[in-house]
This record gives sequence, C-alpha cells and structure tokens, in this order.
Amino acid sequence: MGVFPKFIFRVRIKENLVALTFDDGPHPEFTKELLDLFKERGIKATFFVTGEKIEKHREIIKRMIADGHELGNHSYSHKNLIFKKKSKIKEEIQKTDYLLRDLGVKGEIHFRPPYGRLLFSAFAVLASLNKKVIMWNIPTKDYKERDPKVILSRIYKRIKPGSIIVLHDSGIERTGKEIDRQATIDAVKELINELPKKVYKFRTVSELIDY
Ligand SMILES: [Zn+2]
Repeated sequence: MGVFPKFIFRVRIKENLVALTFDDGPHPEFTKELLDLFKERGIKATFFVTGEKIEKHREIIKRMIADGHELGNHSYSHKNLIFKKKSKIKEEIQKTDYLLRDLGVKGEIHFRPPYGRLLFSAFAVLASLNKKVIMWNIPTKDYKERDPKVILSRIYKRIKPGSIIVLHDSGIERTGKEIDRQATIDAVKELINELPKKVYKFRTVSELIDY
C-alpha cells in the first residue's frame, strides 16, 4: 500500500469518450431533472454526493443506482478537509462509503475532495482506504455561472478524449440558501444534444478508467 493515492484528472484514452460528473447533490428538483434527461437518452453519469445529502435523499440515490449511474464519495459534511485531523478525514470518508453501501452501491467508490482541496495529511488516509481521487480536466465554474452558454463554451474549449467534466447539481451558499442550478441543467440539455455530433459519447468515470 502506497502513501500516495492515485489522482486522476483525465483518463488517457484515444477513444472519444468523456465523463460527466456532478458534485454536491443530490437535489430534489435539479437532480431529478437530470436523471429524467439521462434516462431518456440512455446516458450514464457520475455523481459525487455528500453523506448529509444521501441521508436526506435516499430515494434519489436508489434511483441513480437503478438507472446505472456511478456514485462517488464527496465527504460527509462537505467541510474543507485541508486543516482536519487524519482521524476526522477518515471518518468523513468512511461514513459516506457506509451510507452508499447501505443503499446498494457495489464495487470501488471513488473520492472527490470538497472544493477539490487536500493536503499531504489526507494522502495517507486515502491510500490506506485504497481510494482513487477523481479530479477533472474541465472546470466549468458552473456554481457561479448563470449563463449556460458560458458553461458550454468552457467545455467545448477543453474537450478531448478521456475528459472529466465537473458540474454541480446542487450546492449551498454560505448563507445556507440553495443555489439555483438551472444554468447547469440548461447547459447539460444542450451538451447531450451537441456533443454526440462532435462524436463524443458519455461514460461513467469507472468506465473510462476500465476502458
Ligand atoms: Zn463540492
């Protein structure tokens, strides 16, 4: 067992396959809208969910599993982990894994750190838990973007085989207010119509890794 977990920003394949990933959910409205869209089009995505949201929205997680999407671990509380003790980091990850397993998630559960931030102290914890850390090569900054065209242009600018696109199907502002994710939904609607014309197909993160 190494001291360093494996970090993946993009999967090095030559085929035109990309992964749509969604952080911070599920959300009772926005996520359901995405799931309906994906079902209609036969698309599989990867959702990095928090333990707190899993506890609130168990039915949506069950539907994600039934629909064939991949579930990833985005910590329990979505607190920034960089100044947390190793024991606390481990607890955040294991608690969320446990909740996912309890709802029926099988196979490897990958990890994405809240805010994409980790310090060296977290590396050994992640390596000991055998976690792959899934980052991204296409940041869309959709969490602070209201115009779907801007989100799309950021994706089109960087897209290439094996890309991992990060989007948000939920999110909570510092004030505790829910963030409106309509721009993300609208961008995804357009993306799943346009990307196939550019010959890209959608896969889950694990499908890209195992390709
Ligand atoms: Zn997040």
